[in-house]
Formats: sequence, structure tokens, C-alpha cells
Amino acid sequence: MKVLSRLIFASLICPLSISLCGCAQDQSTKTTRLLMGTFVSIEAFDPDLSKKDLADKVEMAFGEMAHIESLMSPVRSESDVYRINRSARTRRIPVEPYTAEVLKKALEIYSVSDGAFDVTIGPMVDLWKTSGKRGRLAKSSVIEKSLKGVGSDGFMLEQDDSIVLLRRRDLEIDLGGLAKGFAVDKAAGFLKEEGIKSALIDAGGDIRCIGKNKKGEPWSVGVRDPQDRTQVLAVLSLQDESVATSGDYERYFTIDGKVYSHIIDPRSGRPVDNNVKSSTIVAKDCMTADGLATATFVLGPEKGIKLIESMDGVECLMVVEDGDEMRSICSSGFASKLNR
Ligand code: FAD
Ligand code: MG
Repeated sequence: MKVLSRLIFASLICPLSISLCGCAQDQSTKTTRLLMGTFVSIEAFDPDLSKKDLADKVEMAFGEMAHIESLMSPVRSESDVYRINRSARTRRIPVEPYTAEVLKKALEIYSVSDGAFDVTIGPMVDLWKTSGKRGRLAKSSVIEKSLKGVGSDGFMLEQDDSIVLLRRRDLEIDLGGLAKGFAVDKAAGFLKEEGIKSALIDAGGDIRCIGKNKKGEPWSVGVRDPQDRTQVLAVLSLQDESVATSGDYERYFTIDGKVYSHIIDPRSGRPVDNNVKSSTIVAKDCMTADGLATATFVLGPEKGIKLIESMDGVECLMVVEDGDEMRSICSSGFASKLNR
């Protein structure tokens, strides 16, 4: 584990795509849409395609993401997630391959994080959302009761992963910590299949880049300062890689002047309260980055960095509040991702 001084990172986090295109007459396009409750932008460049053809392909990539939203949204009645969460009687729920892929990843990260990342956290997320709206902390007895429904041992995949077998009636899945990253990966996969060699997809800070930017250089991605989101603390230099951040500064609620995170510690059933302000993960694919950002945010610096060091191809940067100071702590290979 390395502690980086504030001199290196002037202050820190949430990935922020930094567009390096400036010319008006070129074969690049940047489009933004509202999807999955967040702004998603796709920037792409291809000298061999007309601007219109490129824009059409980008539109189809958005279509892929909209399809994933329709499968995994917790509020859409046609989604796989909605059907799982409302299935009071049915024990075996058929799901689409995409949903199965995300659930498999969820079980993998649940296992490596020792349960810190748990997509069955749904009831607790709902409980604390209501608590935040009412401006009152949830009672311990209610937390304990809701917590009984949490635990990823409550479901498994069977029959070539086409069926979710529910082991508990009150099981509630929340893919908020993974599905955005997955959608980014699928959009990137689509563009690559279409032959696009340069693109950057940014779903509210879950970012994946394809190839180099149109100047032929690695993509520059800024990491926002969790204390001041207008400031960039560090700039990453990425090529065919992904980055995602979990933090307590964009989505949170306040009760009696205290700020509570939207990320819940499945062990306590309470919002994470471990002085971590943000955790940024660089990984090959965006779903891994997304899930590990949430997992390490829950685990805290010691266990979180240890987990990342034990895995290949992932790096982590955490910002931790230490009294009046902010400390930046990173995995051993993180510095190699910085734009120098
Ligand atoms: P992350 O840190 O990546 O994830 C935090 C989220 O993960 C929490 O918000 C919670 O959902 C979940 N979580 C909390 N604790 C844990 C834990 N210990 N382990 C695992 N997961 C945990 N928002 C809207 O406002 N309107 C919408 O219509 C809408 N539709 C959506 C559709 C889909 C398919 C998805 C995936 C999300 C949607 N959202 C919607 C939610 C919104 O975009 C989320 O806030 C977002 O997914 C959380 O991402 P994040 O990067 O902010 O936080
Ligand atoms: Mg995320």
C-alpha cells in the first residue's frame, strides 16, 4: 500500500472524461443521453467513416445500453430484476443471458470481497432511502429485521445460467453497483465489433475507452476531488481500459447535519462510515471496475487495497479522511496509470 502525498495529487476523485477534440470539421462525434438515471456520453472517432455513419453506430451503442437498462432496472415492471424482486411465490425465474452475466459477476465479487459487495443489499438500500427522505435514522430493530433478507447465498444460477433459483422469498436484488459498468462494456463491445478503433464511453463516471484518442494518444481521464467536484486531482492516461469510482459526495443523504453514504455495509446494514471519501478502480473492463469500486469503498483502505493487490490487472486509488487531512492511498501499480 502506498500513501501518496497531497503534492502528487493536488486534491482528488470520480473519473471525468477529458475531451481532447477541438476541431469542428472532423470525423468525430460526441453524444449524451439520459440512461439508468445518469448522463451517458459516447465520444467516437473514425477517419474512415462519415460523421453520419459514425453517429448511427453510436446511436446503436446507446440502444444496447437502453436494452440493458430495460433488463436490469429495479423500477421497470418488464425487467428481470423487477420480476426477481416481486416473485413472492415463483422460485425459479428465467432471466436473459445479460442478466445472468451480471449476476455471475456479482457472486464473484461477493466472494472475493468477503461479502462487502452484495447485490442482495436491496432491502437495506430501500430502508435507508426512506430514512433519508424522512430525515430520521432507521431503528436498530428494523435494520436487524431487514438485514435477515440480505446475503448472496440467497440465490444461485442454474440450467446454463438461464434460471435464477431463489432460496429466500424476501430476496431483493439491486444491480446499481454493477449494471452501469456492464452497459458501458456492452456499448464498447458493440462499437469494437463495428470496427470503431477510437471511442470513450462515460456513464456518470463509469468509463471505458477504446484505443487511443483522435490525436493518437492515450485517453486522458480526470479523477475528481471528492471534496470539491469541480476540481481534478489526478489525470489518468488510459488505452483500452476502464475506470470507475464510488464515493459519498454525489449520491448521499443528510440527517441532522450528518452526511450518509448511499453505499451500505452488508455486515452492519448501515451506510458505510469508514472515512473513505472515494475509491477509484482502473481495470480492463468497466463492470469489474464498477463492482470493485463499491467493494473497496465498503472494505476501507487496508482490506480494500489488499484485495486489489491480490488481483491481476486492477489498480486502486482511495481518498481517506484523516482528521482535517485527506490522504490518497493507492495500490502499487496505480502510479503507472497517471498521465505524466
Ligand atoms: P456505485 O458506487 O457504483 O454503486 C452504489 C450502488 O450500489 C448503490 O446506489 C446501491 O444501488 C448499490 N449498493 C449499495 N451498497 C452496496 C453493496 N454493499 N454491495 C453492492 N451494491 C451496493 N436511478 C434513478 O434515479 N432513476 C432511474 O431510472 C435509474 N435506473 C437505473 C437502471 C439501472 C439498470 C441501473 C443499474 C441503475 C439505475 N439507477 C437509476 C440508479 C443510478 O444510476 C445509481 O445511482 C447507480 O447505478 C449507482 O451508481 P454509482 O456509480 O453512483 O454508485
Ligand atoms: Mg459505480
